[in-house]
Amino acid sequence: MTAQTPRYRRILLKLSGEALAGGGADALDAAVLRLVAQEVKGVAAEGVQVASVVGGGNLVRGDDLSRRIGIHEVTGHNMGMLATVINALALQDVMEAEGLVTRVLTAVEMRQVAEPFIRRRAIRHLEKGRVVIFAGGTGSPYFTTDTAAALRAIEVEADALLMAKRGVSGVYDKDPHRHPDAVMFRHLDYMELLNRNLKVMDATAVALCKDNNLDIVVFDITQPGNLKRAVLGEQIGTLVGGRQ
Ligand code: UDP
Repeated sequence: MTAQTPRYRRILLKLSGEALAGGGADALDAAVLRLVAQEVKGVAAEGVQVASVVGGGNLVRGDDLSRRIGIHEVTGHNMGMLATVINALALQDVMEAEGLVTRVLTAVEMRQVAEPFIRRRAIRHLEKGRVVIFAGGTGSPYFTTDTAAALRAIEVEADALLMAKRGVSGVYDKDPHRHPDAVMFRHLDYMELLNRNLKVMDATAVALCKDNNLDIVVFDITQPGNLKRAVLGEQIGTLVGGRQ
């Protein structure tokens, strides 16, 4: 145990498909999956309850795919939601190999593969120290897994939504990959995030967090120890909201 008490006792960790892809040729990167699992293990050892929402953008983006191959957009979104289940299953396996006990809960029922999402059951798993991986987004087309992450965070009464980024330290005033003079915000309020159109997460997700006073921490998951720092409430990445 560390001397510090975690600021957040129950977290919702949003992992985009892009983050899990690690930038390599494969849709999923073994090293990134292992790193994420180890980071989660580190905070679980501190007694922090961890739920996660996984994205699917490394495999399917519904709107983009439907446009490119000429299928109905709803079909594309349904395929996108299924893609998140593929990622969730990989994450579950890697987490269990690291010694974590996990459950995948899907918004769209597929009982042979995972449990259906039932709010009370999710909370019970968390109380028992199991890592809960939410898959299938919200279960409805046209939404994003960012919105699913905000929604599930509120439903399971998480203390914060941690937005894991791959190789980006937080929220910048402009794209740091294209503008070397980009400045990172240490703190933002919800309205600034919305009004500046900073593309960190979609407006529906931000609005949900705002209405429910849910802290958002945007941070780089690829730096070992960062998840624990974020959970402890250390100055890391960008804090959005944040009851002072
Ligand atoms: N999706 C959806 N409803 C949801 C969440 C996701 O229809 O509630 C679909 C949508 O088509 C999206 C895809 O699933 O493009 C993958 O999710 P997302 O783009 O949010 O993944 P990420 O960018 O986090 O990897």
